[in-house]
Amino acid sequence: MDEFCVGQRVQMKKKHPCGADEWEILRVGADFKLKCRGCGKLIMLRRREAEKNIKNILE
Ligand SMILES: [Zn+2]
Repeated sequence: MDEFCVGQRVQMKKKHPCGADEWEILRVGADFKLKCRGCGKLIMLRRREAEKNIKNILE
């Protein structure tokens, strides 16, 4: 998997409850901070979890 960087839009395997599966990366590090492109909710994920869940980099 390529390196992730802030500002990328990614597609996750699991859909957010709002129905969106696109997220924007706001922070990378030991934890990733992601913003849902559907509802704007922010979540934190451990790097390993994030890497496992991200299936596509959209840009
Ligand atoms: Zn959402």
